[in-house]
Amino acid sequence: MITAYIGIGGNLGDRADTLRKAVAVLDGEDEVRMVAVSGVYETAPIGVTDQPSFLNAVLQVETSLSGPALLNRLLEIERQFGRYRKKKWGPRTLDLDILLYGEEVIQVPGLQVPHPYLHERAFVLVPLCELLPCGRHPVLGKQFTDFLAQLDSDQGVRRVGGLSLWAHQ
Ligand code: ATP
Ligand code: CA
Ligand code: CA
Repeated sequence: MITAYIGIGGNLGDRADTLRKAVAVLDGEDEVRMVAVSGVYETAPIGVTDQPSFLNAVLQVETSLSGPALLNRLLEIERQFGRYRKKKWGPRTLDLDILLYGEEVIQVPGLQVPHPYLHERAFVLVPLCELLPCGRHPVLGKQFTDFLAQLDSDQGVRRVGGLSLWAHQ
C-alpha cells in the first residue's frame, strides 16, 4: 500500500456537493482507502481569471493501485461528474490531481508526480500542510511549509468553515 495525496477542486455547479460525492466514490473503490480529508478552501481562479472561484481540498488515501492506474481511475471519476476538457485551466466541475504518490518520482507520458506545480500553489500547499505538516518535497527537498511561507501572497485562498467533504472524520 502506498500513501498518496490527491488534490480535488471544482468551480462549476454545486461545488461542495460535487466534491463530497467524488470523495465518496473514491472511498468506495476497493483499491483505495480514504485516510484523511483536509478542510475546504475557496480560491480565486489562477491563469484564466475570468471564471467562478474554486473550492479546493486535499485527500490522503492509501492505495494498492500503481500511479498510472490511480490517475486513470481519477480521470474516470472526473468524467463521471461531467468534466469535459475545453481550455487549459478553464472552468471544470471536478479536477483530481495526484500530488504525491509515496516518495516516488513518476515521469511517464501523461503523468508527472510530484505534481509539477504543487509547490507554487497556495490552494494546494495550505490543505496539504494541514495533512502533512512536516512533509518534504521528494524532488526539491524543501518542506511544504517553507514553500508556503515563501509565496509572495496568499493567492486568495481562504478556509470555508463548517464544510466537510467526508462523513467519516
Ligand atoms: P494543472 O496540471 O496545471 O493542475 P489541470 O489539472 O487543469 O492543470 P488537466 O486538464 O486536468 O490539467 O489535465 C491534463 C493532463 O495532465 C491529464 O490528462 C493528465 O494526463 C496529466 N497529468 C500529468 N501529471 C498529472 C498528475 N500528477 N495528476 C493529474 N494529471 C496529471
Ligand atoms: Ca489541476
Ligand atoms: Ca487535472
